[in-house]
Amino acid sequence: VINGEIRNYFLEAIGMLGAISATFAQFALYSLKRSIPFTSAIMSMGLIFLLIASAISTFREMLRIQRERQQAILESESKAQFLASMSHEIRTPINAVLGMDEMILRESNQQEILEYATDIKNAGKSLLSLINDILDFSKIESGKLQLLPVEYNLSDLIYGCYQMMSKQATDKGLQILVKNNPNIPRRYLGDEARIRQVLINLLSNAVKYTPEGEIEIIVNGSYLSEDTFELCLLVQDSGIGIIPQNLEHLFDAFRRLDEVKNRHIEGTGLGLAVTRQLITLMNGTIEVKSEYGQGSIFIVKIPQKIQDSTPVGDIQVHHKKHQTIEPEQTLMKNARGQILMVDDIPVNQKVFVNLLKGTGLDVDTADSGAQCLERIKEKKYDIIFLDHMMPDLDGVETFQQMKKDTNHKNTDTPVIMLTANAIAGARQEYLDIGFQDYLSKPIQGHDLERMIQKYL
Ligand code: ADP
Repeated sequence: VINGEIRNYFLEAIGMLGAISATFAQFALYSLKRSIPFTSAIMSMGLIFLLIASAISTFREMLRIQRERQQAILESESKAQFLASMSHEIRTPINAVLGMDEMILRESNQQEILEYATDIKNAGKSLLSLINDILDFSKIESGKLQLLPVEYNLSDLIYGCYQMMSKQATDKGLQILVKNNPNIPRRYLGDEARIRQVLINLLSNAVKYTPEGEIEIIVNGSYLSEDTFELCLLVQDSGIGIIPQNLEHLFDAFRRLDEVKNRHIEGTGLGLAVTRQLITLMNGTIEVKSEYGQGSIFIVKIPQKIQDSTPVGDIQVHHKKHQTIEPEQTLMKNARGQILMVDDIPVNQKVFVNLLKGTGLDVDTADSGAQCLERIKEKKYDIIFLDHMMPDLDGVETFQQMKKDTNHKNTDTPVIMLTANAIAGARQEYLDIGFQDYLSKPIQGHDLERMIQKYL
């Protein structure tokens, strides 16, 4: 009553009042020595009244909790849905921008135009990686991120990361050095893409926060058992370093350190949060040592299953040799095949068709699921690319229709999902529905070509 909480316990209070009144009534009747029928049961009836009032109140409380729980589930579902559609909505226009930009890069030979186009490409890519970070973060937070283990070569992984970052580093006058223990195993089973993401995050921070000097990638490790190896990836820079009291906040989400000094450096403060979450997901650890003004060292340890324990050799040398022998990757000039691409957005069709210009492929397009169902009756295709989000019949419904009504020429044609939906589990969902494969937008020219080569 004093705290005003009586409103929350109204039913119990009424019940209590009933019980107390009944008790007083029983006392009064006894002391007046009046006996009316059931005198001895009045207090018990009061208590039963209290019990009923409490039961009703508990029941109402349970209903309220149940409603709130349902509400919370709905909200979390709609958050996931929101992320999926946000990812789709943002990726669709970037797809168009990057696709058209790639056309300019391929077709123009004017130096200035090529420079502008390269700037667009870089900006588009950093926008994409920002979206991916936000998506990854929320995926990991909601426990939806799954690891996809594949067999991989350690030297390809390390050198791939090196190559990806080396231009950015040399543009800043920095040098990236790769050193490794040549005796560690060469092939592993693990989520290569996620380890790559970790290493790229650390390297891009090293490049961002190092004004001059060099960055070293040191690869080493030790056997945990006969078939498990703990890979140790170390990224060392000679950069601005981190103030000791900031070290504990380094992995906080959306937290940037030393903001005054770093305000001209682009960033969201999500990179390291995602990096640590990914490493934890892979049962690994990350450690930081840093001296303010001198540089930082990030040490990542991840256990990996060994697939081939032949010594990896010197990664840098191996790849340098490799590079001189391997010819430049060329377009599939001689590929022959019939491709159908279904997408309701004309600019996406245009990007797709243009990416394959110069190959020997015949590309037909359709603007809707219904038109796709018509096309497949008329012609036999080697591969069909189907967009997911389309009005009326969407990609999945179109696919199901194709499988149900087999009165067409493409019953055994591989159908590949083409979508901007990059949310967790999307890939597996499409494969479970029966799609042969999945290509995420924005479509990269070489990914598309590789996919076509695979299914032709
Ligand atoms: P972002 O780089 O997008 O701000 P991160 O989560 O990757 O976010 O990093 C968080 C903060 O940690 C950065 O803002 C920066 O202050 C600091 N930091 C990260 N890596 C380094 C590094 N190699 N050297 C110095 N400071 C770093």
